[in-house]
Amino acid sequence: MFKLSKKVQSLPPYLFLEIDKAKRKAWGQGRDIIDLRIGDPVQPTPKYIIDALYQAAQDPATHKYALDQGLPALRRSIEGWYQRRFNVNLNPDTEVLPLIGSKEGIAHFPLAFLNNGDYALVPDPCYPPYKGGTILAGGRPYLIPLLKENKFLPDLDKIPLNIRKRAKIIFLNYPNNPTGATAEKDFYKETIAFAKKNKIIIISDMAYSEMSYDGYKPASMLEITGARDVVIEFHSLSKTFNMTGWRIGWACGNEKLVSALGKVKSNIDSGIFSAIQLAAIAALDGPKEQIKNMCNLYQERRDILIRGLKSLGLSVEPAKATFYTWIKIPKKIDSIRFAGLLLEKADIVVTAGVGFGKYGEGYIRMALTVPCERIEEAIRRLEKVL
Ligand SMILES: *Cc1c(COP(=O)(O)O)cnc(C)c1O
Repeated sequence: MFKLSKKVQSLPPYLFLEIDKAKRKAWGQGRDIIDLRIGDPVQPTPKYIIDALYQAAQDPATHKYALDQGLPALRRSIEGWYQRRFNVNLNPDTEVLPLIGSKEGIAHFPLAFLNNGDYALVPDPCYPPYKGGTILAGGRPYLIPLLKENKFLPDLDKIPLNIRKRAKIIFLNYPNNPTGATAEKDFYKETIAFAKKNKIIIISDMAYSEMSYDGYKPASMLEITGARDVVIEFHSLSKTFNMTGWRIGWACGNEKLVSALGKVKSNIDSGIFSAIQLAAIAALDGPKEQIKNMCNLYQERRDILIRGLKSLGLSVEPAKATFYTWIKIPKKIDSIRFAGLLLEKADIVVTAGVGFGKYGEGYIRMALTVPCERIEEAIRRLEKVL
C-alpha cells in the first residue's frame, strides 16, 4: 500500500546482509572472531573530554535548545584549532558551522545546491553518504573511478564536457576512506582550477586529517590561494578524539556555502546539545599528546599488518594516513565471496571493497581497530587459509 519514494528506491543497495548474517551466526557459535571491518576507534574518549561533558551537563543552561548555528565559543575554538593546524584564518561567525557529526552536514549539503537531475561528481569507491546525500536531494551521482594507477585520485580530464556543464558539486576525501590514499597540493590546485572553470562546488571531507604516520601531515585545501571561492571542508571530532558516538564535527570555508548549509539545517535540526559543544571545545583546546598517542598506536598496528600481509605475498602499501589498509585480492574471486571465505575459514571479518562502489571490486578493506596481538593472530590465521 505504501510505496517507497523513487529517491529512497534508488539509494545504493546494502551489500553486506549475507556477511552480517554469517557473522552473527559465527558469534552465536562462540567462535573467536577478529573484526577488522568497522572504522570505529576502540579506545575510549579521553577522560578530560568526558569530564568536560560531565561538568557542562550539570548546568541547566545546557539543557535548552542550542540554536544560533553552534555556540560562538565553539566556533572560536574551531577557528583557533584551524589556525594552529593549517595556518589559515577563518571568520568564526561566517565561515564556520558546527555539525551533528560531519556525516550529517555532508549528507544535507546537496539539498542546498542540487536541483532535480543535477549531477554530483562522486569518487568511487567512496564513503556512502556522498551517493546517498546526492540521491536524496534529487541529484544524480556521476561516478569518477579511483584507480590504483592514478594513486586513487580522480582523473578530472576524463570527465565528459556535458557532465561538467551539468555538475554542481564534486566530493573529495583525502586522506581517503577506504583506500588510505592521500592528496597533495598540486592535485588540489588542479581541482580548484577545474571547479572554478566549470562552476562546481568542492566538498572536501577531512575526517582523517589528524590520523597520519611517518611524520606526514595532510594539507587543507583552504591553504591554497583562491580555494575559498569554491571549497567547503568537513571536519569531524569522531576519529581524532575517539568520539564517534558523540556526534560532533564542523563545516568551514566559503561563506555562501557555509551559510546555505546552515539554512538547510535550520529547517531540519535544532542544534547540537550544548554540553557536547562545550566538551568539543575542551577537546580542540586540549593537549596535543592525545593525537600523537593515537597516531603512534595505529602506526604500530599498521606496520604489523603490512609486514604480515607482505609475508603472505599480498600486494599492499602502508597508508600514510587513516586507519585503513586497502588490499588487492586474487583475480579469480569477487570481494564479497572473498570476505565470506575469510569469515568462514579464518574467523576474520573484513569489508568487501564493492560495498564502497563498483570500482572497489577486487579489494578488501581492513581497519586497524584491534590490538597488535589480534592483528598478529589474524596474520597467523590467514597464513593457514591462503
Ligand atoms: C568516519 C568518517 C566521517 C566522520 O563522520 P562523523 O559523522 O563526523 O562521525 C566522515 N567521512 C568519512 C570518509 C569517514 O570515514
